[in-house]
Amino acid sequence: DTAHGGILYLEDITVSFDGFRALNKLSLNIAAGELRCIIGPNGAGKTTMMDVITGKTRPDAGSAFFGSTIDLLRLRESQVASIGIGRKFQKPSVFEQLTVFENLELALKADRRPRAAVFARLSGAQLDRIGEILTLIHLKGEAQRLAGLLSHGQKQWLEIGMLLMQDPKLLLLDEPVAGMTDEETERTAQLFVSLQGAHSLVVVEHDMKFIDELTRDDPAKKVTVLHEGSVLAEGSLAQVQANDKVVEVYLGR
Ligand code: ADP
Repeated sequence: DTAHGGILYLEDITVSFDGFRALNKLSLNIAAGELRCIIGPNGAGKTTMMDVITGKTRPDAGSAFFGSTIDLLRLRESQVASIGIGRKFQKPSVFEQLTVFENLELALKADRRPRAAVFARLSGAQLDRIGEILTLIHLKGEAQRLAGLLSHGQKQWLEIGMLLMQDPKLLLLDEPVAGMTDEETERTAQLFVSLQGAHSLVVVEHDMKFIDELTRDDPAKKVTVLHEGSVLAEGSLAQVQANDKVVEVYLGR
């Protein structure tokens, strides 16, 4: 609850698909402003967890709260963005025929009355906001470029920028650096680290080098390991990497 400064509370979430438990009493608490990395082998339940948070999948049991008052299990997927949750799927989805700037402009107006808003002129504050985001996502020099001409990594950044236009409290990011170069991966880590505090971030990731970069500013930063639908280990990166159960799951079979 807010007394503890939390933003996301999952408790004993269970999801079954035809008797198979994709999530098995999963509990997870994220503090406001926290950047949490979630790792785990294929099939561990990472995607299903994101689907529960965003109302795409309804659990069979358990509870999920956003802050102390919003019951996520009562919301539809279409309502989740409006309470301040932004989700980024693995594949970038930007409007390729529009410029970078226009993509951000559209994202800014997306939550407003459609027709009137799309043709309304941007206010000075809105223009400033787009400028800030362009700098943050390393695309200041590409504002007038068609999004379709960007590199894969730049498209990922643009999509993150589009999410940021809605100023989400919580960002859910599913393998955000898949397919990125080493340099892009490092810049993405810097971007996420700069967003923590003002936003909470849950990052699902396989790439250990990326997790290392995300936790470098604070070696005590928590990493959660999922396995067979529940939390196998939670602690600093060093702690989970030294955990026997984690080593076994990753290397032992
Ligand atoms: P991860 O994202 O960690 O790879 P998932 O959440 O995608 O794991 O999947 C967890 C388990 O649930 C997997 O064994 C997967 O096959 C199963 N699963 C996921 N979605 C469905 C579904 N819609 N129907 C049946 N099984 C599913």
